[in-house]
Amino acid sequence: MLQAQQLSALLVTDLVNVRYLTGFTGSNAALLVWAEPGRAPVFSTDGRYVEQAAEQVPDLVAEISRDALAPLLTAAENCAAANSAAVDVGPVGFEATQLSVAVHADIRRRAPGLALQATTGLVEGLRIVKDEHEVGLLRRACAIADEALAILLEREGIRPGRTERQVARDLEWLMYEGGADGIGFETIVAAGANSAVPHHRPTSAVLAEGDLVKLDFGAQYGGYHSDMTRTFTLGSCAQWQRDTYDLVASAQQAGLDAVVPGALAADVDAAARSVIAAAGVGELFAHGLGHGVGLQIHEAPGIGSSATGTLPCGAAVTVEPGVYHARRGGVRIEDTVIVREGGPEILTVTTKELLVL
Ligand code: ZN
Ligand code: ZN
Repeated sequence: MLQAQQLSALLVTDLVNVRYLTGFTGSNAALLVWAEPGRAPVFSTDGRYVEQAAEQVPDLVAEISRDALAPLLTAAENCAAANSAAVDVGPVGFEATQLSVAVHADIRRRAPGLALQATTGLVEGLRIVKDEHEVGLLRRACAIADEALAILLEREGIRPGRTERQVARDLEWLMYEGGADGIGFETIVAAGANSAVPHHRPTSAVLAEGDLVKLDFGAQYGGYHSDMTRTFTLGSCAQWQRDTYDLVASAQQAGLDAVVPGALAADVDAAARSVIAAAGVGELFAHGLGHGVGLQIHEAPGIGSSATGTLPCGAAVTVEPGVYHARRGGVRIEDTVIVREGGPEILTVTTKELLVL
C-alpha cells in the first residue's frame, strides 16, 4: 500500500485507524508504519496506558511518551538519515483529514529534515472489507439491537402517551442489558411530524394515536457498530402512511437487490432512488442511500448519487432510503448488510412488515 504511494512510512494518528491496525483502544496513541516489508511499526502511547498497551498490543514494544508523536518523529528522522544516500527514499505520509494544521506546523518545526506528504483514506480503504472476526462483531452488535427492539415491542413500550425520550432511553438501556459496550450513536426516536426530520433528536414530544414513529438506533460491540431503522404506526394506519411505507420498502428492496460485489455505489443508490422518483416524490428522499459501517458508524464506502467507489465483497454497508413529508411524517427503513456473492447478508433481522402498534 505504502510502496504504491511511494511513501517510506505512514504516520497514523487517527485513533480509530491505530485501533484497527494494533487493537489498542486508549485515547492517546500514534503509530508509524513502514513501507519496508517485515519492519516492525513504531507504536507510542503515554504512561497511563503501559499495561493496556502490553495487553492489547503484545507484538509491539510500546514507546512511552506523554507526547506520542515524539518517538515516531525520532524514528522517522533516524531512518531518513540512514537512507540519505539512497535516491528512492520516499516521504513520510500523514493523515491529512486527521492531523491539524497546528500539529503539522509543529512537526515541520521539530523535524525539519523530514519530507512529509499528505494522504487520505489509506487505512480507511483497508477497513472497508471486513474479515470474519469483524463480521462476527458486527453480527453481534446487530443482534443486540434487534433483541432490544423485540423486548421493547413485547413490553408495548412504544405506545401513545410515552415520550420520544422515554422510548429512546428504554432502547438504549435494553441494548446495554443485552451486552452492548455502548450505543452506536445518538438514538433517533421521532414521532408524528418529527418523523419527517431525517435526523431528529428525541424530545419530550408525546407519542399519539395515528403517528408514524421512526426509530434509528444501534449498538456498539467490540468496537463495531450496528445501524437499523424501523418505522411503525400507532393505533391505526392512514392510507398515505401505508403508501409511503410500501414505497420505501420497495425502494429498500431494490437497493438491497443491487448490493452485489463490484457494484458501483452510485448505481446502488440509483436502484433505490429510481423507485421513489418513479412514484413522483423523488425530492422527498434527500439523503444518500447508505454508508459503510464498522469501527465507526459512518465510514467508507459512501453510497450516494455522487459516490465514486464500488462495493467489494465483504464490505459492511447500510441501505436506508426514506421518504419524508414535511410537517406530516416520514418513513425510513434501514438494514446493515455484508456484501456477499449471491446477495447481501442482512445482519439486522427485525421484520420490515409495517407494524401497527
Ligand atoms: Zn441509522
Ligand atoms: Zn445509517
